[in-house]
Amino acid sequence: MHRPVHVIIGANAALFFASTTYMIPLCAIMGAIGGYMPDFDLRFKHRKTLHNIFSLIIGALILYILLSLAPIDLLHIYIWQLVLSFSIGWLLHIFCDGLTKRGVYLFWPFSNKSYGPKLFRSNSFTSIALGFTIAFVILLSWLVYSGYIELVLNILRG
Ligand SMILES: [Zn+2]
Repeated sequence: MHRPVHVIIGANAALFFASTTYMIPLCAIMGAIGGYMPDFDLRFKHRKTLHNIFSLIIGALILYILLSLAPIDLLHIYIWQLVLSFSIGWLLHIFCDGLTKRGVYLFWPFSNKSYGPKLFRSNSFTSIALGFTIAFVILLSWLVYSGYIELVLNILRG
């Protein structure tokens, strides 16, 4: 799947971890970064190096350490929201790539098996269309879950 699709899916899914209004953009940014991360392996064992659960755990751990070392209190208070936002972006990237023909090497380097339902090609129209549909459904779910949809509807009703 294309990188922008992963980034949007990650940003939208991360919204669920935002406990306050001002955490919404921060969580979205962390989710977007998490969704961006796995394809850094494009030139080195693509779909293996960063598309497995171990690299995700290590990535989340490194982020946790970096945030806890940062001299900003806000980052310490909301550290779990930020780490979980980042992780969900990364996890959904792996999940969505699993839908494509190549699958993902979920347990690499311990297993060289590629996993996933492998439904369509990564650069196909279906892949992009489904990616945006997933992103839209996640966003809509969050709007309902957070109550923002009601707020918008009430404003529209006047
Ligand atoms: Zn990928």
